Amino acid sequence: MKYSHLLFDADNTLFDFDGSSKKAFDQFIQHIGLDPKEDYYRIYQIGNHQVWNDFEQGKLTTEILRWKRFDLFFKSIGVDRDPHKANTLYLGFLVDFASLIPGARELLDNLKRNGYTLAIITNGLKEVQKPRIKKKNLTHYFNSIIVSDEIGIAKPDPLFFEITADTLMHPDKKKVLVIGDSLTSDMQGGNNYGYDTCWYNPRGKENKSTARPTYVVTQLQEILKIV
Ligand SMILES: [Mg+2]
Repeated sequence: MKYSHLLFDADNTLFDFDGSSKKAFDQFIQHIGLDPKEDYYRIYQIGNHQVWNDFEQGKLTTEILRWKRFDLFFKSIGVDRDPHKANTLYLGFLVDFASLIPGARELLDNLKRNGYTLAIITNGLKEVQKPRIKKKNLTHYFNSIIVSDEIGIAKPDPLFFEITADTLMHPDKKKVLVIGDSLTSDMQGGNNYGYDTCWYNPRGKENKSTARPTYVVTQLQEILKIV
């Protein structure tokens, strides 16, 4: 075993966030009685990306981010609705429609059986992360589940990884591998803290960031050959 501790990102690494998000959004539009329009989701995503970027740059908190993205969306389409209620509905549907990336459960099962210590490290919102892991019956695989929204610090900040290491009783840094789809939070975070990293890059994107992944895989099963 080259590694003993594997730290997994959640969204778009183990969970198909993009798929669930679209379904949750459509359900939310229907629930509030809006006439669904083709470009609504795209319009929502523009505002959503904007607030997450602002959050990463420390310009706003996740408390504001939650409703602000729906406020931007409603303003863009010229509708007057409560953005706080919208957020609560959407997050609830996001848990309801949770789905896994193909091969994720099999991978976790294999790794757990073979004695690896597994953890989740996610920058997502607390209403979604643990309820979704529970809903998909994955909780027992993980020794630690670290949610940025609960600890008040996010990847790629080294402090996020320090807190993660605390919960895992500080394993040898050379024996820890960070696995995730994001160059800026997962790979950069691992680089900053001195952990090896594995970039899950299913669509073969180009690396235009400063992050330097130790490995790159396009399918989750390839991780078995690395660890
Ligand atoms: Mg991710």
